Amino acid sequence: MTDIAPDSAATAPRAVIVGAGPSGFYCADQLLGAGFEVDVLDALPTPFGLVRAGVAPDHPKIKSVTRVYEKTARKDGFRFFGGVSLGEHVTRAELLERYDVVVYALGTSDDNRLGIPGEDRPGVHGATQFVSWYNGHPDASDHAYNLDVERAVVIGNGNVAIDVARMLVLDASELAPTDTADHAIEAFTNSKVQEVVLLGRRGPAQAAFTNPELRELADLERAGVEVDITDLELDEASATWLETEADATAKRNVELLRDYAAASPKNASHKIVLKFLRSPVEILGEGEDGDVTAIKVVRNEIRRGDDGRLSAVATGDEEIIECGLVLRSIGYRGKPVDDVPFDERRGLIRNVGGRVSAESGDAHTGEYVVGWIKRGPSGVIGTNKKDSADTVAKIVEDRDANALNTPSITDPDAIAAFYAQRAPESVTWAGWEAIDAHEKASGEPHGRPRVKLVRVADLVERSRATTAS
Ligand code: NAP
Repeated sequence: MTDIAPDSAATAPRAVIVGAGPSGFYCADQLLGAGFEVDVLDALPTPFGLVRAGVAPDHPKIKSVTRVYEKTARKDGFRFFGGVSLGEHVTRAELLERYDVVVYALGTSDDNRLGIPGEDRPGVHGATQFVSWYNGHPDASDHAYNLDVERAVVIGNGNVAIDVARMLVLDASELAPTDTADHAIEAFTNSKVQEVVLLGRRGPAQAAFTNPELRELADLERAGVEVDITDLELDEASATWLETEADATAKRNVELLRDYAAASPKNASHKIVLKFLRSPVEILGEGEDGDVTAIKVVRNEIRRGDDGRLSAVATGDEEIIECGLVLRSIGYRGKPVDDVPFDERRGLIRNVGGRVSAESGDAHTGEYVVGWIKRGPSGVIGTNKKDSADTVAKIVEDRDANALNTPSITDPDAIAAFYAQRAPESVTWAGWEAIDAHEKASGEPHGRPRVKLVRVADLVERSRATTAS
């Protein structure tokens, strides 16, 4: 290929982005801006990835970022193929036969495991699944959670842990105006959970919460926040670190936690209890593999390692916390897909700065990666904009060096026909718009942003409707 004029439709290179979440959409927008034609695939009939199926439903402002993605979808050169799954309907090799550029924007859909006895007992779940369930992800909507228990323990001190803790104690009046899936609203309304314990393996100074998420716990309708002041006494290493190295978020988190500890108890029927410096060592239950009844934790102390990191080290003091539900919220990891090069240790697609690479570090021509499956599950939604821009800069550099992939099939109509043949249930952007209009119209009379369809068959059927309601 010779020099490609970015604005020449006749010679526009074609990119496919696998995954229609935030990183996929930022990448799509940037590639369109650089003169590419862009097809976006998603395994689900619906777009927006974690914005639809991950962001807590009581955070509608965060979800409103989809307006930016809708603007991208309206641009010339953009096409959406929902319900087309890499590894199921199409292979990596087939994408490389059809596009100059293949970008993986798959996100990280598995959750990390604790690796402790009892982890597979009924009543122990990954937060990933739980979050997908209350958000109406079709793959998770049939899961059942026993909320007929008084105490739940959430392991982890990140924002996902806070999200699930909060969702477990929301009042019906707080759930009502949200797009929480109907099955989850029903389960939360009948839930007996009154106390949620959030368990951090390190101390309050090392919690991964961000300030607004920690602060908003004070505003819950029917739940108070409990923190034991003795848990907030910082060891010397943490106190020095907080004073000299910590960022403003960590400092403010400790202040907020001290405020919670000092506040007079709220007259509330429910509570969130934050406990620090405790690691789970075993999930206890009825018999060898019966329902969870308690979690055994060991008290930790903070030590500075040779690498400078402040780590939790077990003291040997153990404690039992009775509970009937355990949610593991200790970070996500990616899943290998088809034969895309995968770094098992890191749980990510192997890449060097966004170029998919072999173990040797050599780049695979025409293959790129963006978002959490590139760098790991960190940062907020907007972080993915810069992350995608870094990868797109590499794509443009490779285009300018005539170093993209050379596809053998380039006719866009033939490619669309190929998807339709492989995935007869696939959904176009117009189909998604029909789903969207229907969900919004269903929510409107109830003051809800939408009522989600949670089954693939229902989504596909609605996408075929000619009227938008
Ligand atoms: P995260 O922020 O990385 O937090 C993971 C937590 O799990 C950390 O507290 C970590 O402790 C703990 N952990 C890891 N392994 C553990 C183990 N074996 N035992 C006990 N604890 C363990 O991950 P996340 O909560 O899944 O969130 C992912 C990203 O999404 C984050 O960037 C988050 O801010 C973002 N997010 C943002 C929002 C929002 O803006 N509202 C909402 C949800 C998620 P250590 O620190 O000791 O490793």
